[in-house]
Formats: sequence, C-alpha cells, structure tokens
Amino acid sequence: MKYDYDFLVIGAGSGGVRASRIAAGHGAKTAVIEHQALGGTCVNVGCVPKKLFVIAAHFSELFEASQGFGWQPGHPKFDWQTLLTNKNNEITRLNGIYENMLEKAGVDIIRGMGRFEDAHTVVVNDKKITADKILIAVGGHPTVPDFPGKEHVVTSNELFYLDKLPEKIIIVGGGYIAVEFAGIFNGLGVDTTLIYRRDLFLRGFDEDIRKHLAEEMQQGGIKLLFNQNIEKIEKQNGYTATLLDGSTLQADLIAYATGRAPNTSRLGLENVQLKTKDNNAIIINGHYQTSVDNIYAVGDVTDRIQLTPVAIKEGHAVADNLFNKQDRTIAYDNVPTAIFSQPPIATVGLTQEQAQNQGFDIKVFKSSFRPMINVLGGSSKTLMKMIVDTKTDKVIGLQMIGDEAAEVIQGFAVALKAGATKATFDATLGIHPSSAEEFVTMR
Ligand code: NDP
Repeated sequence: MKYDYDFLVIGAGSGGVRASRIAAGHGAKTAVIEHQALGGTCVNVGCVPKKLFVIAAHFSELFEASQGFGWQPGHPKFDWQTLLTNKNNEITRLNGIYENMLEKAGVDIIRGMGRFEDAHTVVVNDKKITADKILIAVGGHPTVPDFPGKEHVVTSNELFYLDKLPEKIIIVGGGYIAVEFAGIFNGLGVDTTLIYRRDLFLRGFDEDIRKHLAEEMQQGGIKLLFNQNIEKIEKQNGYTATLLDGSTLQADLIAYATGRAPNTSRLGLENVQLKTKDNNAIIINGHYQTSVDNIYAVGDVTDRIQLTPVAIKEGHAVADNLFNKQDRTIAYDNVPTAIFSQPPIATVGLTQEQAQNQGFDIKVFKSSFRPMINVLGGSSKTLMKMIVDTKTDKVIGLQMIGDEAAEVIQGFAVALKAGATKATFDATLGIHPSSAEEFVTMR
C-alpha cells in the first residue's frame, strides 16, 4: 500500500468520530488523531455537560412551582461539587464509549496533535503518518476580544470546571452560550448579570421570542444590560468591570461568550497551501473538499452552521462519498436548533423577519399561554409562532419558547422537512392537554 492509511481524520469530535467509524465500516483503513479527550467540544465542554447543568438549574424553578401543587416549601440545598463530580464521571463514561466504538469499528486512535507536512503526510509526536484521503475535523475554541484586563476572564471551557460556584457572575455576549450560562448560573442561585453590546440578544432569532426570553430572564432574576459592554477589568476583591458609560460592576467571576474561532493555527496548513477564510475557517466546496484535492473538512472548523448534528451528518457524508461511492450532500435548510435557556427556545425553518426579507407573502400565527405546570405554580409563559407561505400554504417556520421546546420542535421539524401545509397541520389531531397541540390548533 502506498500510504499508511486510506483515511486519516484529524480530530475525534462529533464530525471526526462519525466519519472515521463509517469509513472503517466501508472497509477503509482508518485512523483518527486526537490530542484531547475523545468526543470533542460537544461531549467534553459543550452540549452534554451544558445540558446536565441546565437540568440542574431548572430544578430551582420546579421546586418553586411544586408549592402550588401542595408541596410544602423546604430548603433544598444545592451542592456544586456533587454536580461537578457526577458530570465529570458521566463525561469520562462517554469518553470510554467513544473509545470502544472506534476500536470496535477498527479505527486506530492516535493520541497527539496532528500537523501537515504535505498533502498526504501528517506528523504526530514526531512520527510521520501518511494517508490517501485526510479529513480535518478539529472544531473551534472560544474567543475573547482584546481589551485591558482580558486575562482575568474565563470562557465556557473553564465554566465547566469551576472549583466553586461564584456568588456574583457577569457574562458578556448575546449568543447561545451567554444566554444558556446566564440561565444556568441564575438557576443555581448565583447573582447573574448578562451584558450584550446591542439592544436585544440572540440576533437572527425571532424578535417576539427574543423579547419574550428577555422578559422571562428578568422575571427570573437575571440582570440584563443591553447596549452595553466592558471597557476594562481590574482585579481587586474579585473583579471590577468598567462599562462603556463609565459605571462599574463588581463580580467574582467574569465570563466571555463572544463567539468561537476555528482550530486551524497549529495544523501546518501553510505546508499544504490550503485556503482559509479571513477568520482561518477552512474553505470547502459542496462536497466538503478543500482547495487541496485529497483533503476534506467538516464541522465547526469550516465555520458554517456550528451544531453537532450538522458536523455528524457532514462527516458521515464524506465517508460515504469517499468509500462507498455515494454522492451525498446535506440540505442546510430547515435545520432545527435549540437554545437551552430558561425557558428554552427551539426553532426550525424561517423566522417571520427572514420570510419577509426573502419576499414570501406570509401568514403568521401566534399562541401565548401559561403551560399547565404554571397554572397552579410558576409564572412563566410559553410562546409559539408559525409562519405560513400564503401562496403554497406550506408551513415554512416554527418557533417556540417554553418548557420542552426542543422536544416539540424536533418532532415538527420532520413535518417541515416533508413540506407539510397548514391544512395538514390543521387536519392533525392534538394530544390534549399538551403544549405541542397548539401547533395543530392555531387559528
Ligand atoms: P455566537 O457567535 O452565537 O454569539 C456571540 C455573541 O457575542 C454575539 O451576541 C455577539 O454579538 C457577541 N460578541 C461578539 N464579539 C463581541 C465583542 N467584541 N464584544 C461584545 N460582544 C461580542 O457565539 P457563542 O459563543 O454563543 O456560540 C458559538 C456557537 O456555538 C453558536 O453560534 C452555536 O452555533 C454553537 N452553540 C450551539 C448551542 C446549541 O445548539 N444549543 C449551544 C452553544 C453553542 P453580535 O450579536 O453583536 O454579533
């Protein structure tokens, strides 16, 4: 054989693990290189531990709601160490499952950093490994803008491993991560302030949903500072942040969730003259092929849709195309997504604003109600929106903020993918009483 491997994958995260398993299953001699724990961002410092933290935080609201159902108020005490230990054990268990899965599939796991020497050679721990086809699936990392005192802040990576819970936290950013962690810390009893530089966070999501979340978060006790930013941070009895207007805020932890950047700096891309965008994301064509013929890239390192299920589908497609003679591409419309805020948001298809900007003539249906758990207990409300294309009667967008939004939207995403019309939604019987039934009873 001309090369050590048919397929060499750099990065054992969501995209890389799937690609290597599938390729090995198709009979390709495959290895995957990883310098950190198996599973990548999602398993180690992303989706999985985040969701565990979100569940932990949500209990505080449930304890409160339970009183309306006759449960006597008690004082459940939260212990961060227990959550951290149990979370870490679960992640270790998952790392082991990934290792078994890869080994069972016949994939060689190579521990270390991979660096290109040429288009068919990657050096790991001073050892040259050659391969016919190479996949870059190295993901990304959190970034912090430059400003005086930036060395004092932490990112999502560190938030997953805090020695102790802060009493007061400031979170900067207005994307998924900022909003999710604000809900987590607030739910765990931390005095939480979220700072966002424009007038309303979650830019790009439905405006009604964004406003609804802002209200719910404030009602839940989170301080929201919009049109605001940090100019500098000084360390003194914790940290003092000076804001744009000169005012100061004190906290014992300041976290930045201001975006992520591709992990390309240490790959030796200059040795293969592989083309990247200005932000170092790898440029690919419709078949995930880079500017170098035998090198492919999927997932966050390409900076398109930074979601685990997207990276997994892309990795799978590359393996099928290269080693099973398929010609798969992935449709990037109707990608469902959820923000695990408190309450959570989920969406599929177009928002009202996007549909209008794209020239659709639309009908918008809205439903806002108190879910049953809050009829006797809590105060939070659910909001659901449906966007219908008047010309075709097709449902082209669904948005929801409220309990179990991710579970509800995942199911309805199939309907949108299948091109369901409003008439089909109307002809579907509801499950009563549920929140999801609102989507089939909207008038
Ligand atoms: P995002 O890119 O989603 O958001 C970054 C936020 O930081 C924006 O609100 C942005 O503001 C703000 N920002 C950027 N630069 C600065 C700056 N210099 N000063 C102040 N604010 C700034 O990044 P995240 O880090 O939240 O998440 C990264 C990606 O990870 C997401 O896009 C998502 O794809 C994925 N993810 C998915 C999750 C899920 O599926 N539930 C959970 C977590 C992450 P502006 O709006 O002005 O640009």
